[in-house]
Amino acid sequence: MSYSTTKQSTDSTITKPIISYVPGMMYLQSTLANFQQTGSEVINDISQTYGSGDKVEIINRKKISIPCTIAVDPVEFGGRICPECGARLFHKDLSRVTLKDLPQGSNLTELVVQRVKYRCSNPECGKTILPPIDFKSERHRITTREENYVMDLLSHGLNNITVSELSGVDKMIVKEIDKRVLLHEFAEKDENGDWVLKKPDHFCKYLGIDEFLL
Ligand SMILES: [Zn+2]
Repeated sequence: MSYSTTKQSTDSTITKPIISYVPGMMYLQSTLANFQQTGSEVINDISQTYGSGDKVEIINRKKISIPCTIAVDPVEFGGRICPECGARLFHKDLSRVTLKDLPQGSNLTELVVQRVKYRCSNPECGKTILPPIDFKSERHRITTREENYVMDLLSHGLNNITVSELSGVDKMIVKEIDKRVLLHEFAEKDENGDWVLKKPDHFCKYLGIDEFLL
């Protein structure tokens, strides 16, 4: 497998990498914006504990770690100019962050993203800049598509623990996502900036109560 050699396609504006297909390997479009894999995946066996008391369950899974970076660095592409003072930026060091990504069946997947961190050459400014990761969730160390997957599972009525087990996302993050979705759907901010329940558009005529599982 090689990521370094390139060839021109029939469309002269597009350059595609040549990949040597080998037995047992499957190459798929990541569909992640500005994603660039930089090496082979690393697979580790892990065991996770779910539940508590008599209902503790240990699940053995595989964790697939994929090293990657951002394909086009907007800071490098923009000429490494400081947005604060206009001075030249220089490479400071490398920054690494691990993002949970969509699981592959029962196997968990994570992206190990490495980026260049920049620092302004003007000593009076000294601003540090880290290029954004287009496929990262705004609030959590997970990919945007993993966040969407969590929201999809929650929308099917699954509880937070089950969603955490299926997605591999920490249950506290699932809880935060669930709370945000519920707030957006059922609440709004009043004039004081406090969250209050939205007033319903229409009211039900009948109320039924089922004591099952109470
Ligand atoms: Zn600066």
